[in-house]
Amino acid sequence: MIAGLPIADPQFWIVTATVAIAVALAVRRVVRSLRRESARPCASCSRARAVPSTPWSPRWARPRLPVVALVAVLAPVGAAATTVERQVEVMGTTLRVEVEGADRTAALAVAESLLREVEATERRLSTWRDDSELAALNAAPAGTWRALSAETFAALAGAWSCAERTGGAFDPTLAPLVAAWGLRTGGRLPSATELAAARAATGPERLALDAGRRRVGKRSQVTIDEGAFGKGAALDAALAADSSAGFVRIDLGGQLAWRGAPAPQTVALADPRDRGRPALDLTLAAERGSLATSGDGERRFAVGGETFGHLLDPRTGRPARDFGSVVVAAASGLEADCLSTALFVLGPELGARWLAGAGRGVEAVYLVVESGRLRALATAGLAGGLRPRAEDIEIEILESSS
Ligand code: AMP
Ligand code: MG
Repeated sequence: MIAGLPIADPQFWIVTATVAIAVALAVRRVVRSLRRESARPCASCSRARAVPSTPWSPRWARPRLPVVALVAVLAPVGAAATTVERQVEVMGTTLRVEVEGADRTAALAVAESLLREVEATERRLSTWRDDSELAALNAAPAGTWRALSAETFAALAGAWSCAERTGGAFDPTLAPLVAAWGLRTGGRLPSATELAAARAATGPERLALDAGRRRVGKRSQVTIDEGAFGKGAALDAALAADSSAGFVRIDLGGQLAWRGAPAPQTVALADPRDRGRPALDLTLAAERGSLATSGDGERRFAVGGETFGHLLDPRTGRPARDFGSVVVAAASGLEADCLSTALFVLGPELGARWLAGAGRGVEAVYLVVESGRLRALATAGLAGGLRPRAEDIEIEILESSS
């Protein structure tokens, strides 16, 4: 690259050649027009009628439209920064990455490294496979210690910190409850005995974290479910994988993480009554961060005429009350992921109280369905950026303790 020009990128030369041809054609047209004007005898006509079309008049532009359109389409590609998009299936969901780089080759390389990091996180954390670090930890006998990779230890430390901050509303050890409710197999109703046994086998205190030696100890049998923090951990690992790019935005199954945002970005928030329909637009000013949503809308199951959700309340061992959904903006993917689950479990009333004491750095909006209408209860940091898409959506600002 010379002085910032991506001369190794073939598209740079395509754009340069296209622009040069367009400019040459424009200059030729102007010169010809001027010659024609000075040669044409037009004593009787007004000056305005006598003047031929300017180069950018419709008459001139029409035959040149393909050239102009080509320049318009290719210009962004040849500009100093280029944005590429990639989409793959990973972690049982769709991953979309958008990367701005100095040129196309550089942006594609960054996109590839982000994808690889998400795949690597899946290999470390997924309990849907037998060969991950978490699967091995789950299978290890009680009373043993296991050394973990730096990434897995960091993810568990973040999850355990979230469990503590939310008074256990978020509980990464509730795999026995997930199994009792058959959440991975289409759903079932556990008996009272099964439920009691599953509840007795959960609790974050069952695992000891030793940061100094990067290991965890199973005080008693404990099984970890990464469902509510794995995607967030993958997003953080992906953003940390490469710092060379400008703007990077990743969408992993609906959770967003970004960095280097040059300007505020607007995202659509799904209506919990019909998740295919956006209910509000949210403009996010943060240069970096993550946005996660928890809701039961898409993942409910019916047993004996009753429907249940996949978000479990560790206080009761039962699915949490379904009120709508909650969207959380936080500095990291893991924090947004864990907190959206916890705030759903707490529900709008307790959640609002928790948010009031949470301080800066965590913003949220509860989308509460009441008698068919939608209320958006937002922290002050998000409320200003919310725009309803329908008239019947009310926005209320949640009180903060500061
Ligand atoms: P999310 O969609 O991020 O809210 O995560 C939902 C998934 O996390 C569920 O499918 C369960 O596997 C798991 N889960 C459910 N309830 C909880 C909870 N209270 N704490 C931690 N994980 C949970
Ligand atoms: Mg979550």
